[in-house]
Amino acid sequence: MAHPSARFRCFSGCAGTFPLTQAIYRCPTCDGLLEVAHDLDALRAASGEEWRARFDARWSPSWSSGVTPSGVWSKREWVAPDVPDDAIVTTGEGLTPLYPARRLAAELGFGELFVKQCGTTHTGSFKDLGMTVLVSVVSHGLRSGALAVRAIACASTGDTSAALAAYGAAAGLPVVVLLPRGMVSVAQLVQPLAHGAKVLALETDFDGCMAVVRELAHRGLVYLANSMNPLRIEGQKTVALEITQQLGWNVPDWVVIPSGNLGNAAALFAGFRMAKELGLIDRLPRLCIAQAAKANPMYRAFIAQAEHVAPVVAEATQASAIRIGNPVSAPRAMAALRGLNGVVEEATETELADACAHADRTGLYACPHTGVALACAKKLRDRGVIGERERVVVISTASALKFTEFKLGYHESKLPDVASPLANTPVSLPPDVDVVAKHLG
Ligand SMILES: [Zn+2]
Repeated sequence: MAHPSARFRCFSGCAGTFPLTQAIYRCPTCDGLLEVAHDLDALRAASGEEWRARFDARWSPSWSSGVTPSGVWSKREWVAPDVPDDAIVTTGEGLTPLYPARRLAAELGFGELFVKQCGTTHTGSFKDLGMTVLVSVVSHGLRSGALAVRAIACASTGDTSAALAAYGAAAGLPVVVLLPRGMVSVAQLVQPLAHGAKVLALETDFDGCMAVVRELAHRGLVYLANSMNPLRIEGQKTVALEITQQLGWNVPDWVVIPSGNLGNAAALFAGFRMAKELGLIDRLPRLCIAQAAKANPMYRAFIAQAEHVAPVVAEATQASAIRIGNPVSAPRAMAALRGLNGVVEEATETELADACAHADRTGLYACPHTGVALACAKKLRDRGVIGERERVVVISTASALKFTEFKLGYHESKLPDVASPLANTPVSLPPDVDVVAKHLG
């Protein structure tokens, strides 16, 4: 059997491939996006059944299994096959719960509703999945002499910088993060600071930060860690594999994902497509890309049936991590929509906040982005686009523990444009048993 291998190539099909350890982010011919191309013939040396058995045997949190206990590296042949064991920088990412949201499903009229809890992970967001791959490849490239970089850098709405800072610190590599000043939550700002990253707060929005970091990378001053770098997508695509694996290698009817820069939507498609091509699954799910109405360039393109996504100026939204007006991975997401018979839906501030509050009342604890996805899923169900017996998986992208100000704001009825019908506030009482007893309800 040929050893599995992977190379960068142009997403639009220009000739030429490049090693994953090369600092290259755009196609040198057309300046378009790159993707990671795997040697599928080498991977076909094992049947779909054999891959399923291999992946199931590796679904283990134990180091004694002989495999790095990580949802990403347990599928390493499909991700970055050339990274040696001792270059892997891992925090045990992936292997996240698939939460059966039974009460919420019953109340919203879904046949089956699961929430893939990607925020239940080291830095509290799905960004860990891509960052373990990127930092491991950089680490491998530096050690083998294929790569020479002074620092790894990203522009971020919060979660990306937290993940990059953590993995960089674990690898002992310098990290620089560019944040839009005043637009990320306190918890998200604290994470890169705590990990010792150089944090530069710029007087602009995410898209402005992105333009700066791209130019720094272009000048060779930093290695670019944003999802323009397709290494991130290779890690994130394991979400698709985990979902089907957790459903007994059955494919859900729908996957709903909140998306700003759109790399995660592209990653889902990459994962499902690869699983189908290699015989692990026999069909593909439908996709819903869920956007905040305040930052909805993909939604606008979908409604207009446009071939390309036109940039917008993203407005302030509680879903701050997807406040992106000029999504880098738009062409990839367009391909995902076509490949997965997808739709795009949007959620207003009221809809996303109430969706979170409702979900929380049924035992979830949903971040605002997950709220966007839940609200969009509900709208599709209400319109009958999602059928009453269909099995739906909503991707939760981050831990709501990062969004305490949002939760508190809702329950104190202080969020702009949000009425907070499910607000719940503490009752102050004297330490008197009879008084307290009266308030038990
Ligand atoms: Zn090209």
